[in-house]
Amino acid sequence: MSTVRTDLRGRAVVVLHAHPDDEAIFTAATMRRLADRGARVVLVMATGGELGEQYAALRPGETVHRRRLAELEAAADRLGVARLVLLGRRDSGMVGWPSARHPRALARGRADRLARRLADVAEQESADTVVHYDDRGIYGHPDHVAVHRIGSLAARLSGATAYEATVDRDHLRTRGGTHLVDAASGHTGEYGRPAADIRVRVSASTTELAAKRDAMAAHASQIRPTEVDVPGFADTYRHEWYLTSARTGMLHALAN
Ligand SMILES: [Zn+2]
Repeated sequence: MSTVRTDLRGRAVVVLHAHPDDEAIFTAATMRRLADRGARVVLVMATGGELGEQYAALRPGETVHRRRLAELEAAADRLGVARLVLLGRRDSGMVGWPSARHPRALARGRADRLARRLADVAEQESADTVVHYDDRGIYGHPDHVAVHRIGSLAARLSGATAYEATVDRDHLRTRGGTHLVDAASGHTGEYGRPAADIRVRVSASTTELAAKRDAMAAHASQIRPTEVDVPGFADTYRHEWYLTSARTGMLHALAN
């Protein structure tokens, strides 16, 4: 555990995610720590997550989109997000699904235009850091791959340091692979990166892990209690991993 607590007051970070619940699964502890150290955390959500799992009965007049948004707002609150920006694209679904042809599907969106919007947010916020996904979108979901393209381009446009969220597949594989984060790999059979590729690891404290658990649980329409309050949760979800070509930066300062 780091003994020097970096003061991030006056700094801003833009965190781009594909679907509501990705922020909780992949970067929640990092976001909580950034906020606790004074950084302004701006969460940009690319889609409404319309095609994720749907476990909850909707209230009369409620749409999946509205439910997801309400859950996202609750999760963002728990993670200390100062501003939530919605890019308004639609969930593309998995490879080969007809939903990918929907005109508003994220995977069909112009990456250059979406990157310009993200760079505009970064510039408005004077953010020096952009967080997105590794080039395979962690596990190959077309929307996650789109997030990589958009995020990497936006970081270049705005001059921000880029960090690519991934998972350490060596760490997860030795854990038995029964968690939500492992199940994601079932779509494509491959996920994350080997441990040797990881450049920054943020390991949650007890309170940060509690925030992550609560943020995941807030997405109750697509994450079941049995996927959160489960043996081995801490061991699997405590760490968050990033790739970067930068030698120093905001997430380097958080690593422990
Ligand atoms: Zn996702």
